[in-house]
Amino acid sequence: MEKKILLNEKDMPTQWYNIIADMPNKPLPPLHPQTKQPISGEDLAPLFPMELIQQEVSAERYIDIPEEVQEAYRIWRPTPLIRATELEKALQTDCKIYYKYEGTSPSGSHKPNTAIPQAYYNKKAGVKRIITETGAGQWGTALSFACSHFGIDCEVYMVRISYDQKPYRKILMNTFGAKVYASPSTNTQAGKNALEANPNTPGSLGLAISEAIEIAAGDADTKYSLGSVLNHVLLHQTIIGQEAKKQLEYTGDYPDVIIAPLGGGSNFAGLSFPFIKDKISGKQMRCVAVEPASCPKLTKGKFMYDFGDTQGYTPLLPMYTLGHTFTPAAIHAGGLRYHGASVLCSQLLKDGLIEANAIQQLECFEAGILFAKAEGIVPAPEANHGIAQVIREVNRAKEEGVKKTILFNLCGHGFVDMAAYQDYFAGKLVNHSFTDEELTGALKDIEALQPQ
Ligand SMILES: *Cc1c(COP(=O)(O)O)cnc(C)c1O
Repeated sequence: MEKKILLNEKDMPTQWYNIIADMPNKPLPPLHPQTKQPISGEDLAPLFPMELIQQEVSAERYIDIPEEVQEAYRIWRPTPLIRATELEKALQTDCKIYYKYEGTSPSGSHKPNTAIPQAYYNKKAGVKRIITETGAGQWGTALSFACSHFGIDCEVYMVRISYDQKPYRKILMNTFGAKVYASPSTNTQAGKNALEANPNTPGSLGLAISEAIEIAAGDADTKYSLGSVLNHVLLHQTIIGQEAKKQLEYTGDYPDVIIAPLGGGSNFAGLSFPFIKDKISGKQMRCVAVEPASCPKLTKGKFMYDFGDTQGYTPLLPMYTLGHTFTPAAIHAGGLRYHGASVLCSQLLKDGLIEANAIQQLECFEAGILFAKAEGIVPAPEANHGIAQVIREVNRAKEEGVKKTILFNLCGHGFVDMAAYQDYFAGKLVNHSFTDEELTGALKDIEALQPQ
């Protein structure tokens, strides 16, 4: 038995997989917030280059990966598929556990899989500067690297709480040549409003998105870039699952369960969509998206139209959401602190093609530390959510007396997140519970946004 299943570079997939082509129910269209009519590609043109807008609305099953993007992917791809033999021993299980390790990328997570093509299409369209937001700092780092690769300026609005918790992330972005601002900032109206309402706000991903969009929309040479949620972002991530499929073919296994954490949905989609294609054609298997109990949009939110950002600059998106004014607790898994879930993942959940589970952060850190001791890799706090679910599945298999093949996404390493582990060891992390009012309060604000 081999521990690591490695693909040759020549076996790297040359197309992305677009699940829209195979979805039994197509996603509902994004709506213009005033007219409540479907938006057109032109409405998005101030923010994104045309080729990305075309990918956003495409119904083609496969989309070619440009040669320049493949070349940049080869800096770290294909990524390894690893049999978690040591974790299996630690859990004393007969289940086979595999993980796709995306932490081998330059920024340490799956995010460069979309940062590279996004920077490429912007460059091709003559864009000079890209503005973005970052939560935990993973996305900002990935885009900074991608922009430096293609020679574009990059500015990042970093959620205040992460800016303070993760100074090394900021320095990493600076190393790749990007400018970094704490959000909320005084550079934008959205930021000023938020600071006026609460000068000590920890910020949120939704608010940082508002700031980045505000600046990009006001400057013709500047575009905006998003690291999750949108269809084209999920599309680019499908290289993960397509590689994993080839790697599992080599071992002769097929997963019974696929698990990944879900912030906006991109790493979950990236690993699972190429397998969900099989599920749609009748294959038996489960896909579980894991969210933090402190931001439970999939399990406690509602499927409604809502803004993607806090200020209400984006189109209305049909998604599971807690409401765009919901401010998640300041947990260390910053990448999972987002009020909504991507349109594609939301529709698949509504249609029963995927499942969702919310887990408290203490159980997640316990799982992550067990994994680190066994396999030697310290996972990103986000990834710990997936690992906690893997352990639950193993326990369930034990109870049911069955053997399962489990595949999960180790979507990033935690080397720049050691402050989170420090807080965990110091007993500073707590589990979160909400009153009904806290959970549903922000949903009341969006009732008026629904189309008739
Ligand atoms: C950004 C990020 C996430 C959450 O975003 P998704 O779009 O849901 O993947 C999870 N894990 C890591 C390591 C991240 O960087």
